Amino acid sequence: MIQKIDHIAIAVKDLESAVSHYRDVLGLTFLGTEEVPDQRVKVAMFSVDGVHIELLEPLNPESPISQFLEKKGGGIHHIAFGVDDAAAQIKEMEQKGVRMLNSEPRPGAHGSRIAFAHPKSLGGVLVEFCQKSG
Ligand code: ZN
Repeated sequence: MIQKIDHIAIAVKDLESAVSHYRDVLGLTFLGTEEVPDQRVKVAMFSVDGVHIELLEPLNPESPISQFLEKKGGGIHHIAFGVDDAAAQIKEMEQKGVRMLNSEPRPGAHGSRIAFAHPKSLGGVLVEFCQKSG
C-alpha cells in the first residue's frame, strides 16, 4: 500500500555542482551521499519536509542514468512512493495490469528495498516503490 511520497529523483551529470546548487542556492537540507552499486548510481540526498530529493549521478556508462542523461540531458528521472511491503506492492501492481521492471525488490539506498514500474504503464512516469528498512 502506498503511504507517502518517499523521494523525487533527478538525474544530473555533475553531482558536486548539483549538490552545491541545491544546498547553497535552494537552501535545502543536505543529508549526504551514498553509492548504490545495484543501480549504478551515486546518490545525494536532500530533505524537504520529510520528502527526499535525490540527485542521481551515473557510476559508469552502463548506468540507466547515463542513457537518460544522453537522451534528455538531465531532469526528473522518477518519483518514488513509500510502501509498507515492496514485494506485496509488486504483486498487487502486476495483478492490476501494471508492467513492473522488477519482479522482485532490489537493494536501494539506506538498506531500502525498491522496485520500478514501467513508465508505459503509468502515463510516461517512471515510478519506484520503496520500502524502508526497519
Ligand atoms: Zn529512487
